[in-house]
Amino acid sequence: MRAVEVVAFDGDDTLWHHEHLYQDTQAALRELLVRHVEGPVLDAHLLDVERRNLSLFGYGVKGFVLSMIETALELTNGEVTGGEIGQIIERGKSMLRHPVELIDGVADTVQQLVDDYRLVLVTKGDLFDQEGKIARSGLAELFEHVEILSEKDVAAYRRVFSALDVPISKVMMVGNSVRSDVLPALDAGAQAVHVPYRVTWDLEHAEPLDHHRVVRLERIAELPGYLDSLIP
Ligand SMILES: [Mg+2]
Repeated sequence: MRAVEVVAFDGDDTLWHHEHLYQDTQAALRELLVRHVEGPVLDAHLLDVERRNLSLFGYGVKGFVLSMIETALELTNGEVTGGEIGQIIERGKSMLRHPVELIDGVADTVQQLVDDYRLVLVTKGDLFDQEGKIARSGLAELFEHVEILSEKDVAAYRRVFSALDVPISKVMMVGNSVRSDVLPALDAGAQAVHVPYRVTWDLEHAEPLDHHRVVRLERIAELPGYLDSLIP
């Protein structure tokens, strides 16, 4: 008997670096539009545009590119040039082509857990984009199941975890986002581990945690030891 039978991992900023690509691209957009608008104004406007587009585009690079173009059009009163829009599109393409870089300790940790636990991957975003990242991560064959969700809410977790043929209380969700990985997984009845990433997208910010079924680890390499310490 184990306290945890299934370990479910988030992908972006939990297994591989992700948010820094967005932040680097946003920095390039600030540079591109510097003669039209100040950086903080652009950042705030882009966030508003992303927020209002989320229900239409969902998460992912392609929606981000469209939101950057829309932001550029609005903040320049339509004066952004075709060449500048072309540069925004190119930036988006290079984000999509970027190699998948695993976070320190991930490869060893996942390899260490695969003998003792059933491992699943529960990620969010554009299907095509996420499938490519999982394939390029080199980790795909270690997961018995991969789920790509358009939104990580309680209903989605309940559906995914219920299909695992194990009591949901024996599932542990591991992720960097309190809002997307921890809180809805707890509400679905699972246990959770929060492993913060060094940067968090503004739309993923949430209040600090206080719950008996969650723990915060600074590094994913601490996960096997934590799992071993749990009493069934
Ligand atoms: Mg994440």
